[in-house]
Amino acid sequence: MADRHPTRVLISREQLDTRVAEMARQIRADYPGNLHIVAVLKGAFMFMSDLVRNMEGSVSMDFMAVSSYAKGTTSSGEVRLVKDLDTALDGRDVLIVEDIVDTGLTLTYLQEILRARNPRTLRTACLLSKPSRRKVDVGVEYVGFTIEDHFVVGYGLDYAEQFRNLPYIGVIES
Ligand code: 5GP
Repeated sequence: MADRHPTRVLISREQLDTRVAEMARQIRADYPGNLHIVAVLKGAFMFMSDLVRNMEGSVSMDFMAVSSYAKGTTSSGEVRLVKDLDTALDGRDVLIVEDIVDTGLTLTYLQEILRARNPRTLRTACLLSKPSRRKVDVGVEYVGFTIEDHFVVGYGLDYAEQFRNLPYIGVIES
């Protein structure tokens, strides 16, 4: 069990519901045709499921998992592909769905390997962004919430595999 707990709510369930529905509408308007979503496990699972529940029309989905060798609440910057996609991306309109962009190293790595698979278009949606922590300038077309430099959990995000089930985003104080 994790020995630290979230001490306050940063983004409520209601705020998440409203913003995710808004993002879904915007993404659908930008992609009226087929959209192929690539969700990054595990952190993005809840965001992705709420996002697609708010979308009508043609959406397909695939999943990949990366390990960023995080130690506690800091990321080491090394990224490894743990689970690859099941289907090819050639000619498809692909949207990467990620939980949070922090230093930007994980997303830069993901965008590079997915771009090499020749999608027709490649964009990224992140629920959260911590711009003050950025080490590389990575493009994110859809950002749910811009947040300060806090370590956050809930709504898919974990601390030592705990708290992913929380329906809100909470802060773990360091
Ligand atoms: P980056 O490579 O941008 O530094 O880190 C991205 C990954 O680090 C995210 O996909 C996430 O797994 C993890 N991460 C970064 N910041 C946080 C945070 O505040 N909370 C949690 N739970 N994970 C984080």
